[in-house]
Amino acid sequence: MKIHEYQAKELFASYGVATQEGYVAYTKEEAVECAKKLGVEAYVVKAQAHCGGRGKAGGVKLARTLAEVEAAADKIIGMRLINKQTGAEGKLVRKVLVTGAVNIKKEFYLSLAIDNETASIVIIASGAGGTEIEEIAATKPELIIKQPVSPINGLRDYQARYVAAKIGIEGANVKEFTVMLKNMYKLFVEKDCSLVEINPLVLTDEGKLLAIDGKVNFDDNALFRHPDIVALRDPDEENPKECEAAKHDLNYVSLDGTIGCMVNGAGLAMATMDIIHAFGGEPANFLDVGGTATTERVTAAFKLLSDKNVKAILVNIFGGIVKCDVIAEGIVIAAKEVGLSVPLVVRLDGTNVEKGKSILKESGLKIYACDDLRSAAKKAVEFVH
Ligand code: GDP
Ligand code: MG
Repeated sequence: MKIHEYQAKELFASYGVATQEGYVAYTKEEAVECAKKLGVEAYVVKAQAHCGGRGKAGGVKLARTLAEVEAAADKIIGMRLINKQTGAEGKLVRKVLVTGAVNIKKEFYLSLAIDNETASIVIIASGAGGTEIEEIAATKPELIIKQPVSPINGLRDYQARYVAAKIGIEGANVKEFTVMLKNMYKLFVEKDCSLVEINPLVLTDEGKLLAIDGKVNFDDNALFRHPDIVALRDPDEENPKECEAAKHDLNYVSLDGTIGCMVNGAGLAMATMDIIHAFGGEPANFLDVGGTATTERVTAAFKLLSDKNVKAILVNIFGGIVKCDVIAEGIVIAAKEVGLSVPLVVRLDGTNVEKGKSILKESGLKIYACDDLRSAAKKAVEFVH
């Protein structure tokens, strides 16, 4: 799960990671009110949307007066941020963060992420932080240093000092950096994060280290123990279908293809996507209805598949714990509710398969029943070509 920069900064503040005060505004008038509260001489107005690269896309503007704050907010709210991260259609900006501007002496990159290779949290840092970090990573990877953290020992001061020395943090700032990094680590572990990133971490003209951007991602599988984090979810920023799926405990990912898939079990779902691909088709989604699918969940799952991009639906169920008749009932209810308008290919096998098949047959719906996955996938692909 992702959150906004302003929410990340609130978490930073509560964990003792130095950042600026700021307020969120949904209109240009609110932005001016926010700026007044800050009592500073210069401001930054920043698009709040779940994507990076906002600066380069025109979503971060410096303002010297309240009139400039108003003008910047007016420009940013309602704009579409378009860059590599957002895809061609871009990301609509609904709100801005107004903070005090700082004079930057130097920009660093600092993050904690999960490193699959060492199976640990890793510190990633660079003395060449800022908006060009992706370019630096691609062309000068030697400027980026990585330090795995032992899950048993935790982050030790000497590691923080080592990183500081490598990226060019000196003198009194080393202590400040150590405290900041250890607090980031605490946040990472306590809130089950998958990423805590500050880019840029800046050294101000006054000689202070400050997080002027923040990005925090969380491990979805651990959200059940963090209701405070779940409360930060912004449905506007999330794929509405994925949100709906989460409500029904369905494992769903939207994709660009034309064949809607409903499968039980993540492995079978992936195999189904592969076989669709092998026959020359493209799946419209990944959807695992799980091993304990009820009629309600199947109905919800089926509704998710009814999308304008979907030209055929392929249901592939192997009934083990889940029973084929339960699946069939769900399909019939949902297909009637949503008014099925595309071909529906069903491959059912396993527990209560005969019962399931007869429910489908008696439903009066136009369903193409297949006995094995190959012929079902082939049939679905034929319908979209
Ligand atoms: P991103 O482009 O989405 O990563 O947004 P950032 O919050 O990182 O802002 C982009 C860039 O704007 C930063 O790398 C800074 O160079 C610049 N910037 C942001 N806030 C300030 C500020 O307070 N003062 C100055 N001088 N520059 C800023
Ligand atoms: Mg940034």
